[in-house]
Amino acid sequence: MSGNNDGVIVILSSPSGAGKTTLVNQISKKNNFQISISHTTRKPRSNEINGKDYYFITEEEFENLIKSDQMIEYEQYGDFYYGTSREELSNDSSIIILDLEVNGATKLLGENHNFKGIFIDIDDYELIKRLKNRGHDESFIKKRMKLANLQREKKELYQYHVDNEDIKTSVNQILDIIYELEES
Ligand code: 5GP
Repeated sequence: MSGNNDGVIVILSSPSGAGKTTLVNQISKKNNFQISISHTTRKPRSNEINGKDYYFITEEEFENLIKSDQMIEYEQYGDFYYGTSREELSNDSSIIILDLEVNGATKLLGENHNFKGIFIDIDDYELIKRLKNRGHDESFIKKRMKLANLQREKKELYQYHVDNEDIKTSVNQILDIIYELEES
């Protein structure tokens, strides 16, 4: 790897809609962990802040970061680039948390044992219910379910699995895993 961090680097992934963002927010509220801020070329949503949720940059800027080898991993997800810079992983935090889609995550998990992966999932019934509640139509939901099943095929590459049936329980499970990793 190439960041200089000696601490624990924890990667969280999940099928889209399984509640990962809420979990990451809850975890970061309660603790002093460093949450890695990714770069992306997608536009900010109304509640998002540049430099806090993401570094929002142009495609040209992103491609320059790739060319100059400043990204430790990146992926194209949908129509946009998402990636983690080496700089994000190079500070002294004992715990750094990365929220990554499955392809970028499993590349890092395969490359280096310092990265620990937690795969968050929920059952299909609950996933469909959440996607419906977000106002998505039948055809979008079908596509997302297909994608979720592809993402689940890589689940075994993650060392830990959490079923997000209840947010409070899941937050505690994730924290237990992180504390255990920190001590080991
Ligand atoms: P969103 O657009 O909803 O914020 O994120 C879309 C997906 O991109 C999520 O699954 C999220 O985990 C993933 N993602 C965010 N940052 C990165 C990154 O730096 N690298 C990779 N590989 N995926 C990321």
